[in-house]
Amino acid sequence: MNSMNIKKGDKVKVLSGKDKGKEATVLRALPQKQRVVVEKVNVVKKALRPTQQNPQGGISSVEAPLHVSNVMVICPSCKQPTRVSSRRDENGKKIRVCKKCGKDID
Ligand SMILES: [Zn+2]
Repeated sequence: MNSMNIKKGDKVKVLSGKDKGKEATVLRALPQKQRVVVEKVNVVKKALRPTQQNPQGGISSVEAPLHVSNVMVICPSCKQPTRVSSRRDENGKKIRVCKKCGKDID
């Protein structure tokens, strides 16, 4: 299954790794890989090749993707990190639901 319960723009809490406990925003979701890129989380240094704009090359910091199992969505209603269930609305569209408070997340 390639769907994820986490989307770009979600607030998530990091559950493991060096950024455990941080709360930040999802910058990109990678459903094929079951990974997300989270703002300022799992930052790694990356060597840059010299380019015309930057002939020296150098080192930049980028966020490396982390597995979705390492983050939890923070519900916008109850502000708690939560597991997500889903329901279909009247048009058959999938809507995410907070398992803690039962409110829609989308
Ligand atoms: Zn909630």
